[in-house]
Amino acid sequence: MKTEDGRAEDERVNWLSSIPFFLMHFVPLLALVTGVTWGSVVLCIALYVVRMFFITAGYHRYFAHRSYKLGRGMQFVMALGGTLAAQKGVLWWAGHHRDHHLYADQPEDIHSPRKGFWWSHVGWFLSDKYKSTPTDRITDFSIYPELRWLDKYCLVPPALLAILILAIGGWSALFIGFFLSTILLYHGVFTINSLSHVFGRRRFATTDTSRNNWFLALITLGEGWHNNHHHYRSSANQGFYWWEYDVSFYVLKILSVVGLVRGIRKPPVEVLVKNRIEKGVFDFGMFEARFAQGMRALEAAKARGGVYYEKKLRKLERLVARAKASAGEMSRHSQIVQEMRRHLHVKQVA
Ligand SMILES: [Zn+2]
Ligand SMILES: [Zn+2]
Repeated sequence: MKTEDGRAEDERVNWLSSIPFFLMHFVPLLALVTGVTWGSVVLCIALYVVRMFFITAGYHRYFAHRSYKLGRGMQFVMALGGTLAAQKGVLWWAGHHRDHHLYADQPEDIHSPRKGFWWSHVGWFLSDKYKSTPTDRITDFSIYPELRWLDKYCLVPPALLAILILAIGGWSALFIGFFLSTILLYHGVFTINSLSHVFGRRRFATTDTSRNNWFLALITLGEGWHNNHHHYRSSANQGFYWWEYDVSFYVLKILSVVGLVRGIRKPPVEVLVKNRIEKGVFDFGMFEARFAQGMRALEAAKARGGVYYEKKLRKLERLVARAKASAGEMSRHSQIVQEMRRHLHVKQVA
């Protein structure tokens, strides 16, 4: 059973358990009382950038997509760094993210903007439906007891960090340095699930609505090249060309020079030229999304009804059915749909 905006009925925010999340957004205002020090502003920026690196390079590119290799010690450091962002546990995050790629913008997608902006941005994160760690999706990492522990007690590291910051830097450091940066970090990371499936340009025909967006790449250290990422998710770099800045990747490269990171995966040349929209490849992802939008508009017009519109609506319905049939015929032969079928039916880790 689906709601009007495409969400299943159990895809609902748990308002009660989400109270701390919402209250947290007001905590930085307490700095109006304590005052703001320059030190706390610097700490805010530093904690945003450093933790963004651990989320994008660690939680996302390593744990969800295995786009490079780490030793067991560094693997733990990456997981711990990401856990400090208070965006739930590493196994939870990476496991659910794999599902996003498996079903991107399909009804099973946990946070498609086709289910509404609010839902894709934060609603799914606050919902009971996706509360537990999808262990079957992340069996490759859940074999490590230290990662299972971190995943289970994921609030302990950020809580300890907050206490440490308060003890050393005082209230301003806590309110601005810790809380403000944590909130900015939430929304910075969340834009990749919401805005980068809505605003930006598409280079590759994919079965979803992902975009490349320079601004989102700037605030997320390179994650904004999201259409590149959906096109080839096993790559450690998401900026495919020199002008597509990707700070997380630059840091990974530096870490590889000193031997802490190994086996960095990059897109092969044939991947870079495959499914380019500019070369006329049928963009199935956008077609499907726009078609669904058109159908919703048609349903809304029908619901409004009235004798005057009925004839026109029937004609429009016939046209829509014909367009759907010919697009279906075309897509059956297109390479991209073949790929989509393979992706949906073969459970693929990264
Ligand atoms: Zn996506
Ligand atoms: Zn991904």
